[in-house]
Amino acid sequence: MSRFLVDHNMLVIHQTAYICQSCQHHLILIDHRDFTNSEEKVEALVNDQEYTYCPNCTQKLTPPPFH
Ligand SMILES: [Zn+2]
Repeated sequence: MSRFLVDHNMLVIHQTAYICQSCQHHLILIDHRDFTNSEEKVEALVNDQEYTYCPNCTQKLTPPPFH
């Protein structure tokens, strides 16, 4: 199983281990989705293009919300 699911339509990166209903990943068209294990590839998409991490499944990658 790949670590990341990239949605090239919405420009969102999901973490497959934590994917949930809210991600609506089943709505991603096959032509628009991409599975990868490469953190470098994902980081490059975020840094060099306008991709963002999905807030529903990437809690592990982002700092916890301020509370
Ligand atoms: Zn997600």
